[in-house]
Amino acid sequence: MIPYLPLQALNAAYEPMLSDAVQRVVQSGWYLNGKELAAFEQEFAAYLGVAHCVGVGNGLDALTLILLALREMEGWEEGDEVIVPAMTFVASAEAVVRAGLSPVLCDVDEAALLNAAQIEPLVSPRTRALLPVHLYGKACDMNQLKVLAHRHGLRIVEDAAQAHGATYANGRRVGTGGDAAAFSFYPGKNLGALGDGGAVVTDDAQLAALVREYANYGAARKYEHRVHGCNSRLDELQAAVLRTKLPHLDAANARRQALAQMYDAGIQNPAVHIPYIYKEDSPSVYHIYPILSPHRDALQSYLRNEGVECLIHYPHAIHQQQAFSSLAQQHFPQAERFAAQVLSLPLHPLLTDEEAHTIIRLVNAFRPENH
Ligand SMILES: *Cc1c(COP(=O)(O)O)cnc(C)c1O
Repeated sequence: MIPYLPLQALNAAYEPMLSDAVQRVVQSGWYLNGKELAAFEQEFAAYLGVAHCVGVGNGLDALTLILLALREMEGWEEGDEVIVPAMTFVASAEAVVRAGLSPVLCDVDEAALLNAAQIEPLVSPRTRALLPVHLYGKACDMNQLKVLAHRHGLRIVEDAAQAHGATYANGRRVGTGGDAAAFSFYPGKNLGALGDGGAVVTDDAQLAALVREYANYGAARKYEHRVHGCNSRLDELQAAVLRTKLPHLDAANARRQALAQMYDAGIQNPAVHIPYIYKEDSPSVYHIYPILSPHRDALQSYLRNEGVECLIHYPHAIHQQQAFSSLAQQHFPQAERFAAQVLSLPLHPLLTDEEAHTIIRLVNAFRPENH
């Protein structure tokens, strides 16, 4: 069996450093808001090339807190609009709702990303921000989005939960191209904790301070609650785990890219389409390696029978979710195509060349008429 993501083995590769880090925290007697968090915030900011990093509880909180901070800074009103891709993990749209704003869905391009041409007609007098998602680990074209945002006076909040370490076409790290970016350290992400975790990164000191305040019960100073906030922390154990892994992130991403290039070159089947292939100047970090097939469900069960576990990211577009049923009348052909056809092949730093070749051989041997 080739599992989709062997988390146990992926974490065992960091032993004994991981257990040492956990022990260090256990023995310190200090479990929240301590030295590990401060050090991780500093190290992650330095890695990205950004002025401020605020560790928070998870990726959804990171997005929500950025929007709450911007809402206060800019005086946005309840129901003001944020443009979100129709194909993404639900958190991207949910954060907008949680911040008291209104998500306006935009169809995605053939790489499942937002682009300026598709956003432009959706901009209204109430539009306040764009929320590009670097889905599957591939950066959106931020230069294009920045021109559009500037023209309409919009803020840019990046959802970088799938793109740790990815770069834009200009070589800068994903997470540094907008007003602020949200990261998730959910265990399966390219940089994953041993539990929940997230971070907000920004060059804007005021925004960073507001995020800290909202994440700390609305208090910038202890017991001085200026606004209604929430409790959202990256704990010392998770920060220590992330500090252990961060120095290896680039090597892990490079291995993902090498495997993706093997898939790109090897997969040849008229029933399978690869939405984008590896490009040196704007490379994905392949949180996910997506393929499209009109026979997706048959392909998935065929691969499962042959011992390869594949997942679907994501089986429903946002407007197809019951929680967003008020948007159900709309149509987003490309997002709907991904929901109906996308399949994620196993791709992680420990996948061997041999396993990749097995998967390629099986995908190429798939004949829809036989299933
Ligand atoms: C994982 C993810 C999130 C949310 O992260 P959590 O830590 O699970 O809250 C947000 N957006 C995208 C695109 C994600 O993949």
